[in-house]
Amino acid sequence: MTTALPVPTLNVGPAGLTLEGVALADIAERFGTPTYVYSRAALTAAYEAYQQALGQRKALVCYAVKANSSLGILSVFARLGAGFDIVSGGELARVLAAGGDAGKVIFSGVGKTRDEMRYALEAGIGCFNVESAAELDRLNEVAASMGKRAPIAFRVNPDVNPNTHPYISTGLRSNKFGVAFTEALDLYRKAATLPHIEISGIDCHIGSQLLDPAPMAEATDKILGLVDKLASEGVKLDHIDLGGGLGIRYRDEEPPTPTEYLKPLLERFAGRDEALCFEPGRSLVGNAGLLLTRIEYLKPGVEKNFAIIDAAMNDLARPALYDAYHEIVAVAPRKLPTTRYEVVGPICESGDFLGHDRDLAVDTGDLLAILSAGAYGMTMSSNYNTRPRAAEVLVDGDTVHVIRERETLEHLLMGERPLP
Ligand SMILES: *Cc1c(COP(=O)(O)O)cnc(C)c1O
Repeated sequence: MTTALPVPTLNVGPAGLTLEGVALADIAERFGTPTYVYSRAALTAAYEAYQQALGQRKALVCYAVKANSSLGILSVFARLGAGFDIVSGGELARVLAAGGDAGKVIFSGVGKTRDEMRYALEAGIGCFNVESAAELDRLNEVAASMGKRAPIAFRVNPDVNPNTHPYISTGLRSNKFGVAFTEALDLYRKAATLPHIEISGIDCHIGSQLLDPAPMAEATDKILGLVDKLASEGVKLDHIDLGGGLGIRYRDEEPPTPTEYLKPLLERFAGRDEALCFEPGRSLVGNAGLLLTRIEYLKPGVEKNFAIIDAAMNDLARPALYDAYHEIVAVAPRKLPTTRYEVVGPICESGDFLGHDRDLAVDTGDLLAILSAGAYGMTMSSNYNTRPRAAEVLVDGDTVHVIRERETLEHLLMGERPLP
């Protein structure tokens, strides 16, 4: 390994890698593999970095639940006072079960159902980020049927290019997300006439794994222009939500810190009194987690050598899905020359790899840590090939909390039945 480990609380000790005060080898011994392992200190530090960057400004950091929705993770952020950005009724149920404050919940997403709207209104969420005219009408109807007013922001598409992977860029005109910048004014005018809608704010989210603050600053200028135009027509907003998207280091990326990322945005907010909201996901959890896995077989080949591990694309889909890179390190490297491996899982797909061309000094049965796996890891996992999903543990100093038990075959078959 040439660069420092991207997981901030991971250290190299005499018995191999340790996370906070716990050896990864002990975790594997006690809980088996594959297991997602998270660091509470790293989660807390990532959240505090935003709070520090925001200083005394009226602001709310709403953790984007889809990045990692396990109750144990949500409860860490709930105790820190975070808000939550959700995209489904299921995510709302998770936030409430983890002790989150419904009043600090923002509901995003293009396809909210009537049932989800009712559930969120019943719970008293902070804001609906509305993504179309049809959704606005539906929300007004549902709120009317409950005798309530729904607080809303429009998710406006600022049409800036975030220079990221096409699958995770969301702020271009061609995306399915948000309302067009050119239609936003008319939509606000319309919303102002609806009796069961209460205009609360404005929202944008331009993409994910952003490494450059410039596109966000450009989006902010556009949004603020719109906010001022609305004010001149008498529509006053109480919050401005600039979405999530700040990137992390997987390999050698050099993402801005929250302070660097927010600086040009905060400059633009000088003298304004709207509350500022953010919806970070990846940058709060990505580098606070790793996937701990064991090598089942080493399979030397003519062209490639394979390290076949007990984790697979069903556990961590990002490599197969986006060709994403995750650092893979031996938990206790051996005094052997390194060999170059394809690190692959047992699933019957050629796309089932976790890493290509990795130089490792390992033997069969050794443990590997797949780093930066805290975001979009467990939440995108599946039971493909009828594989029980991994356990999850949260390290807190010297303590290990099991936050999700490993699935069993009974869990997998639950609710299914053969023909009578
Ligand atoms: C996915 C998403 C986020 C979080 O994005 P990150 O890149 O993980 O920070 C925030 N807001 C919305 C609307 C999203 O869809």
